[in-house]
Amino acid sequence: MPTRKRQLPEIPPELVGTVHVTPLDRIYNWARKRSLWPMFFGLACCAFEMVGTFAARFDPSRFGMEIMRASPRQADLLIVNGTVTKKMAPQVVRLYNQLPEPKYVLAMGACAISGGPFKEGYNVVSGIDKFIPVDVYIPGCPPRPEALIHGFLTIHARMERESIRDLRWYRKGEEADTSVPVPELGPDLVDWRLTEQIEASQPEPVE
Ligand code: SF4
Repeated sequence: MPTRKRQLPEIPPELVGTVHVTPLDRIYNWARKRSLWPMFFGLACCAFEMVGTFAARFDPSRFGMEIMRASPRQADLLIVNGTVTKKMAPQVVRLYNQLPEPKYVLAMGACAISGGPFKEGYNVVSGIDKFIPVDVYIPGCPPRPEALIHGFLTIHARMERESIRDLRWYRKGEEADTSVPVPELGPDLVDWRLTEQIEASQPEPVE
């Protein structure tokens, strides 16, 4: 995102040292990046690295991130931390849609990024970015807490470059519908309710 340089007003000489002038975006982003609330949810083994990251040793309260919310309505960071099965993908998208704007997504680990060791398995999604927009990818199997923290810092750096004027959800008079369609179980996905129909449609085995 391009950073726009703005002309700041000059401070009268008698107020230098007393008054500090800065763009509203900077204050706003500074506050936002120090109060990013992740959602507490886990998919597979990577989730335990995330839990370890939020324990005392790594101390995410340094970044104002120690509050993990159990409800997507109260969080603004979704950490997709593990294997996304085709059965689980609709639920992950639904949770993403329930996060309030502005929201961010972090794909943690090889599974969330591409399916990882289970890639092209019959029941595994080859990357959550097939369904929802991902802001930061953290490779590894599993990534260490330091890598997850680096992902947090990358999101913070991205926030710093954002402007209230450019973000869609702050524009007046513009449709603010940012929801993405929830995928349905289809021919590509496993739907055990159709087992009998699938069996009936198979040709007779040749003797
Ligand atoms: S990337 Fe590795 S550690 Fe993470 S969920 Fe997949 S298999 Fe487990």
